Amino acid sequence: MNLQDCIIVGGGPAGLNAAVVLGRCRRKVLVFDSATYRNRYSHGVHNYLTRDNILPSELLTLAHTEVKKYGAKMIHKKVATARKNDDGIFMVKDEDGKAYHSKKLLIATGLWDNLPEIPGFKELYGKSVFHCPYCDGWEVQEKNVGVYARNKNGFELALALKCWTDSVTLYTDGRNRLKPTEVETLVANGITIVSYPIAELEHKDDHLKNIRFKNGEKRQCDALFFVNGFRMQCDLAETFGCIMSKKGVVLTNRQQQTNVEGLYVAGDAAKDMHFVVVAAAEGAKAAVIINKELIKEETVQPAEGTLAT
Ligand SMILES: Cc1cc2nc3c(=O)[nH]c(=O)nc-3n(C[C@H](O)[C@H](O)[C@H](O)COP(=O)(O)OP(=O)(O)OC[C@H]3O[C@@H](n4cnc5c(N)ncnc54)[C@H](O)[C@@H]3O)c2cc1C
Repeated sequence: MNLQDCIIVGGGPAGLNAAVVLGRCRRKVLVFDSATYRNRYSHGVHNYLTRDNILPSELLTLAHTEVKKYGAKMIHKKVATARKNDDGIFMVKDEDGKAYHSKKLLIATGLWDNLPEIPGFKELYGKSVFHCPYCDGWEVQEKNVGVYARNKNGFELALALKCWTDSVTLYTDGRNRLKPTEVETLVANGITIVSYPIAELEHKDDHLKNIRFKNGEKRQCDALFFVNGFRMQCDLAETFGCIMSKKGVVLTNRQQQTNVEGLYVAGDAAKDMHFVVVAAAEGAKAAVIINKELIKEETVQPAEGTLAT
């Protein structure tokens, strides 16, 4: 058996940073990457010191060079199943059914955002349609900004966007999940609420132009932020019986350890802020703890009676 020290499932910032740290510890590491990074639609990464506005694909290219330099191997395949055998060894199988074994397993498989099924949404995602004001608010400051909230309430997101612009409209797409007090607060803060069901996001050259409603009316809008929930990219952590948060991500301790011994989760798949820099930091933290655990397991204890006096 070609036993790895650690298998990492996920080749985003969390998984790759873990691979670099473990590689530099001279560990045998395999990274699986199915190339479905959460921010692949984004026009540029923000809030990552020294990498302002870098294309997500460029960041990954730089990361791949570092991962390679420190000896971690990448396999560009999807992991279909993973389990822990009775002897404590992890076994993952790729999409072709090939098995790989490791002492430790790190899941860094990220999330999918739930995009509303409205024409224009998917096309504009990461260009004029966003979910995170901290990631993309700066670029649309002083513009006409909308908030889409049909399945969630949207109150907090609408108020938060006032940091970046005075012109915020909350679109509830035929539903209204706001409490009367929230409506009063939004109105008191100059936020307009529009409840008509939405037909389409009209756009030109990747720029949102108007929100067109099913009743035929339109409202001009430069950028739309949405709150519509997310889901795990894959259910590997759930199949291990990991404890999940109410929002459906994995609960870990501060070292990214799950309730399953030897199994770690980092990045968006674990409960914390969804930032590239946070995902990378969690990957680094997990890698250090994994290395410490391996050191403990490998340290030879002196035979009885041989202790120096
Ligand atoms: C439009 C948009 C813009 C964003 N802008 C910013 C920004 O400006 N700044 C910022 O800090 N954050 C931003 N984010 C958030 C950022 O993308 C995430 O926080 C970050 O990508 C999380 O990294 P991760 O490694 O956890 O997951 P991801 O980057 O999503 O990587 C997940 C990895 O797991 C792999 N994977 C999943 N399942 C499997 C499987 N079964 N087998 C093998 N591989 C698998 C995927 O292929 C991928 O390699 C943005 C997100 C979006 C959607």
